[in-house]
Amino acid sequence: MASVHTSSTANAPAAKPLGAILDRAMAGARLSLADAVALIECTDADLPAVMAAAAELRDRAKGHIVTYSRKVFLPITNLCRDRCTYCTFRKDPGDPGAWTMMPDEIAEWSRRGAELGCKEALMCLGDKPEVAFKEYRATLESLGVRTTIEYVGRACEIALDEGLLPHTNAGLMTTEEMRMLRPLNASMGLMLESISPRLRARGGVHQAAPDKDPALRIKMIDEAGALKIPFTTGMLLGIGETIAERAESLLAIRDINERQGHIQEVIIQNFRAKPEIAMADAPEPDAYDMARAIATARLVLGANMNVQAPPNLSPRQIELFLDAGINDWGGISPLSKDYVNPEAPWPHIERLGERCARAGFDLKERLAIYPEYINDEWLDPAVATNVRAMWARTVGGQS
Ligand code: SF4
Repeated sequence: MASVHTSSTANAPAAKPLGAILDRAMAGARLSLADAVALIECTDADLPAVMAAAAELRDRAKGHIVTYSRKVFLPITNLCRDRCTYCTFRKDPGDPGAWTMMPDEIAEWSRRGAELGCKEALMCLGDKPEVAFKEYRATLESLGVRTTIEYVGRACEIALDEGLLPHTNAGLMTTEEMRMLRPLNASMGLMLESISPRLRARGGVHQAAPDKDPALRIKMIDEAGALKIPFTTGMLLGIGETIAERAESLLAIRDINERQGHIQEVIIQNFRAKPEIAMADAPEPDAYDMARAIATARLVLGANMNVQAPPNLSPRQIELFLDAGINDWGGISPLSKDYVNPEAPWPHIERLGERCARAGFDLKERLAIYPEYINDEWLDPAVATNVRAMWARTVGGQS
């Protein structure tokens, strides 16, 4: 079910020779789907040239600086109405390990994170559990809120009070919900994961995950742009998509960003198999699948895009991914585990810095909002003071 099919490019126009595609990408041309498919399907022999072009394009805008965000995960609830077959995070009420964080726990974790130098509070949670679970609706009522997103707003206020900048990734949200959260967040996010509607069909990884409808996710990402919310999105590789669909996903992200300009970073994330999931025996994308996707993302999205890969999911590929064109490692926590991939420990930040240095890169901290978005166009006035003060006091003051 999760195996990667080779693409069928029968409907796409014939691709140009690879060298011509790379020349056009380096000249800033807008690549076609056929171009992107040719890049992401390149042969082993062609991969070094594709990666070299991607790295050169990255260097033009980013140089040899690679960033990360020091953050604390706040898994507000792991109840979720969806059932993605690769997920170990979600639980039903009453399952061992099911939780909803109480306000005092949110404050305590935020405080400890701030003491350890974290700047970002990542609100991560399941999707719309109140729609599925009566017990959880009672929990929300006892907390004085009607919806999970209202409760996330409360959690953001707590994190702000403790000196952190919230970044909410709460699944599908309405425009009204995002509007309510904008004054409480430095940025927000939603992984597109894949543009493929096939993954929601019978036997697909998202068959029982109504919130993973790609059309709904594209709509929300677009609406976030209309609300001027700096936004994080990305792809999850190895969940049953074809290679060509990976290229289509990248082009969909590019198209939204051309309309709205709010995509501050694009994550290229690899599926990791775990014994307890339905996809336990599914093949994982290998390092070169990831390198092809990263390099293609860079060449499709351009020199200025922040392209990220999680270091804890590919700890041996730090140098390869730098060579393929990333400029960011995403959030790394000195306090909390990666709740979505709990078996994959974060790298020690100093060790990661040493490896980057040996590869010729400076590892630098950034905030949950990238510097290019710290301005009146993108920041809600209610959170702007916190962001600017944090910037001046920490990473901005050191740059
Ligand atoms: S991946 Fe997200 S949406 Fe899917 S089941 Fe897990 S928590 Fe729910």
